[in-house]
Amino acid sequence: MMEGSAREEIVERSYVVVTTVEEALARARELHGDFQYIAGGTDLEVYRRQELIAEHHVIDLAGIKELRDVSVAGGELSIGALITLDELVSHAVVKDKIPLLVTAARSVATPVIRKSATVGGNLLVKNRCTFYNQSESWRSSIGSCLRDDGDICQVVGTDAGCYSRNVSDMAAAFIALGASVVIRDLDGEKRHDLTALYSGDGIRNHNLLENDGIILRVEVPIKRVTSWYRKLRLRESLDFTSCTVAAAVDEERHARVCINGVSMAPVLIEGDLDELSKEELHRRARRKCQTVDNDLLPLKYRREMTYAYLDEWWDSIHADT
Ligand SMILES: Cc1cc2nc3c(=O)[nH]c(=O)nc-3n(C[C@H](O)[C@H](O)[C@H](O)COP(=O)(O)OP(=O)(O)OC[C@H]3O[C@@H](n4cnc5c(N)ncnc54)[C@H](O)[C@@H]3O)c2cc1C
Ligand code: SF4
Repeated sequence: MMEGSAREEIVERSYVVVTTVEEALARARELHGDFQYIAGGTDLEVYRRQELIAEHHVIDLAGIKELRDVSVAGGELSIGALITLDELVSHAVVKDKIPLLVTAARSVATPVIRKSATVGGNLLVKNRCTFYNQSESWRSSIGSCLRDDGDICQVVGTDAGCYSRNVSDMAAAFIALGASVVIRDLDGEKRHDLTALYSGDGIRNHNLLENDGIILRVEVPIKRVTSWYRKLRLRESLDFTSCTVAAAVDEERHARVCINGVSMAPVLIEGDLDELSKEELHRRARRKCQTVDNDLLPLKYRREMTYAYLDEWWDSIHADT
């Protein structure tokens, strides 16, 4: 024992490979929360390299075959959580039944990343902020922030909360389509409206996963919709979204418009198309989006582009119908 000197407890790290959901949950239970699941690893690995992951253990879900299925049943398309975005864009049924998903998946990252990036991992991509998604030395040089080990938010300069942005492009498309997510945890399997997954908390980004939850699949209603998608980013070839808008209008003229990349959770605006004027869209977006200056593109420009996309969607849907 090193008397009188600081002593750090050394915890061994482990990388656990599983082949069934039951096995994953059993291993999770043994690790008492000190783990992260990994699927394609395209988000998690970056966080690990930037020393933003506190957990010591990793449970690799990639070998679970039952999460790799795409099927149609009961008027819904079911997409397994481990389907990669590359598989999604080339899947004949997805292309035929729900082309909005293909457009959204094609806008994510790069073709090489999409070969590993999964649908489940995309829905759970961690919120981003220019002051947080940096190396440890960069973060400590500015005094860190609430989401790390600092005591103020570097964007707004208070300790009132974190405004990191949800950047999942697939979430925007799935929410516009009215999708549900099926999660299995230590208490069993349950289906939820996808919007319930997002907490709106910049630090603890997701709900429904507290009990070691694993996303099994996403279920999307198959119905005739007029869909629309736009994504703003600094470099078309690579960057995360600065603002994504996905919209779907069904034959009863019910509209679902989802804005992401500008607030702590995806923002859904929905209603009868005839009651959603441009002014009403702007009013609801203004009320629901908590956009702050934590992206590569300037705040004023992102706000203006959010309204510009909403207007562009409104003009296009009224030209079509
Ligand atoms: C250069 C670059 C550009 C990128 N651009 C974009 C972009 O434009 N848009 C975008 O949306 N994303 C982007 N990403 C992020 C990422 O590549 C994608 O979101 C990807 O789909 C994440 O999937 P994954 O399987 O790699 O997730 P992983 O990294 O494996 O996991 C992500 C998170 O999900 C959890 N997880 C994964 N699967 C499950 C499951 N089935 N159940 C429970 N938890 C699970 C993990 O624990 C982790 O917290 C980019 C990444 C990079 C490196
Ligand atoms: S919004 Fe503020 S608290 Fe949240 S990650 Fe960025 S700087 Fe940190």
